[in-house]
Amino acid sequence: MQTNGVGLDDSYLETFRELDIRVGVSLDGAAESHDRHRRFASGRGSYAAVAAGLDKLTWPSFQHLFRGLLCTIDLRNDPIATYKALAEFDPPKVDFLLPHGTWATPPSGRVPGAIATPYADWLITVFDHWYPAPIPGVRLFEDIMDLLLGGASSGEMLGLSPSRTVFIETDGAIELADNLKAAYHGAAATGLHVSSDTFDAALLLPGVVARQLGVRSLSPQCRACRIHQVCGGGLYAHRYRPGTGFYNPSVYCPDLIKLIDHIREVMQADIDGRSGNRAVR
Ligand code: SF4
Repeated sequence: MQTNGVGLDDSYLETFRELDIRVGVSLDGAAESHDRHRRFASGRGSYAAVAAGLDKLTWPSFQHLFRGLLCTIDLRNDPIATYKALAEFDPPKVDFLLPHGTWATPPSGRVPGAIATPYADWLITVFDHWYPAPIPGVRLFEDIMDLLLGGASSGEMLGLSPSRTVFIETDGAIELADNLKAAYHGAAATGLHVSSDTFDAALLLPGVVARQLGVRSLSPQCRACRIHQVCGGGLYAHRYRPGTGFYNPSVYCPDLIKLIDHIREVMQADIDGRSGNRAVR
């Protein structure tokens, strides 16, 4: 379960333990960074409440339920301070999420088609700090490293692995990937509900099938790209452009190229330095 962590009290945690439900918490860094976007209706920031929830989640009796922290990147936040603020909670895994956006509604700081790479630059700063002592693990970096070595990604952000998830909204609606909502109104809707449908019913939906086609779902530009097996065209939602739908490169294309190339270079230098001959993809 992915939660904002605000309501993580004993009764919820007891229930999660009983049902063996793992818990991921969304946290965007230190208090000032987190509270910029995540506020209660009163305007008060939610950091203190999330930190209290994380305190409980990391008690020895519940620690095994802790799946990790999910941080949405805000370019205004210092990258290393953000990583350190997350690592303080000793999560088993940290994941950095590129803010959702499309070619029509680009993410903050990303000018579609421009060569500037603000998100790659932010992530590279974290990567270079993290790589010599990679604990806690950072899923995005580990996925890129696995893909560069010929493996598969663990999620849909990168690579060509088929989509394997649906989302359950708090009202029981079964939806496609939450991030598809960034594309257009209703993009994630399925019409299915946990009270009347099975999860298998979602498998035949065009929106699920399209995200299981691997290289066949990529635009011509992505298919011709030298790193398409690693990048996979980026997150499906980030490819959206009115008129051509999802048949485009990611709006983050220049950032993805720079980040992947940087990680490849660091790994190759590391492997060369350890006298291995194994070539990175
Ligand atoms: S989004 Fe860009 S980097 Fe990724 S596969 Fe497509 S062209 Fe290559």
